[in-house]
Amino acid sequence: MNFLVTGGAGFIGSAVCRHLCGNPAYRVTNIDKLTYAGNLASLRSIENAHNYRFVHADICDDRTILEVLHHDDIDIVMHLAAESHVDRSIDGPGAFIETNIVGTYRMLNSALEYWRGLPDVKKGQFRFHHVSTDEVFGDLPFDSGIFTEQTPYAPSSPYSASKAASDHLVRAWHDTYGLPVVLSNCSNNYGPFHFPEKLIPLVILNALDEKPLPVYGAGANVRDWLFVEDHARALAIVATRGVVGESYNVGGGSERTNLAVVQAICDILDNRRPRPAGRRYRDLITFVTDRPGHDRRYAVDASKIERDLGWKPRESFDSGLARTVDWYLQNEWWWGPIRSERYAGERLGEARKG
Ligand code: NAD
Repeated sequence: MNFLVTGGAGFIGSAVCRHLCGNPAYRVTNIDKLTYAGNLASLRSIENAHNYRFVHADICDDRTILEVLHHDDIDIVMHLAAESHVDRSIDGPGAFIETNIVGTYRMLNSALEYWRGLPDVKKGQFRFHHVSTDEVFGDLPFDSGIFTEQTPYAPSSPYSASKAASDHLVRAWHDTYGLPVVLSNCSNNYGPFHFPEKLIPLVILNALDEKPLPVYGAGANVRDWLFVEDHARALAIVATRGVVGESYNVGGGSERTNLAVVQAICDILDNRRPRPAGRRYRDLITFVTDRPGHDRRYAVDASKIERDLGWKPRESFDSGLARTVDWYLQNEWWWGPIRSERYAGERLGEARKG
């Protein structure tokens, strides 16, 4: 089975490529534009694998996409390429519209042209799997409610609005043109190879540098967390066994306030690498001005994928977080260059304060 993964140099995409390449019956082509968030170092473990190929391209370049679909005889497209950082979408929404909406439109057109030309036996196998977020559903009250696949869309940020638009396009290409699509909407991911501007790696790395640990507002916002390798496994299952036209919510069943997440990281670090003179990492926590349009709570009902496709997360939040902290402690070769050359960790704190 031949997969085309878009955005495979990103956080989740690289986990998907590593996971798929572990199956010798699969061949994986990774298309990525290598924006600031793309990093080929995340693919070092598979870069020479016989069943892996990288193509440096923009998903908006539909001619190249079509060429790759034909050249690599693709059976399944897993579309992850996106601008993904909510704070950046507030500062500069243009790239989010271009990649997440126009890029998905171009991917759909290329996939449709390719699919229409396939022989019948291949046509029936083909899938376009669109990878999306639970943020499309908007804001939940702190004390009630959960997103199901039937929850109406109500996105709050430019990021989630652009992802919601792309989800609608994907459904429209199925309903209007018959393109065989599947969708998945997942909660917050965390784990190894996560870009250092995101909450969990930012807190780990700032703590190691004795820098402030920025927490929005009072840190009361709640997210459901899923270990990235559990997500990669879920995505492979949805792509290969999901029912055409359906969408699947994916989540970890691990709701935590942002403050609880930051405190948990501090407690793990107190154990792994104690600060001098009995000081605790929690003392570095700094509350900063809340993000505009900050949704209070996201919580995902993942019972459909569990029931229909037999997927369940394997990692608990506590064990996954400890694995993640240990990974950052042991893999400075990966994050060191990003943090020092391409991205200064405190920038996010500054943006938040502004
Ligand atoms: P990421 O920002 O780490 O990676 C995105 C990748 O896409 C990067 O490698 C980047 O270079 C590439 N890319 C960006 N624009 C491109 C373009 N025009 N053409 C080709 N490649 C391009 O993102 P991520 O966290 O790995 O998220 C991947 C997908 O999963 C996204 O679609 C996101 O919306 C979705 N998602 C993420 C989360 C999460 O918690 N991170 C949760 C649910 C869903």
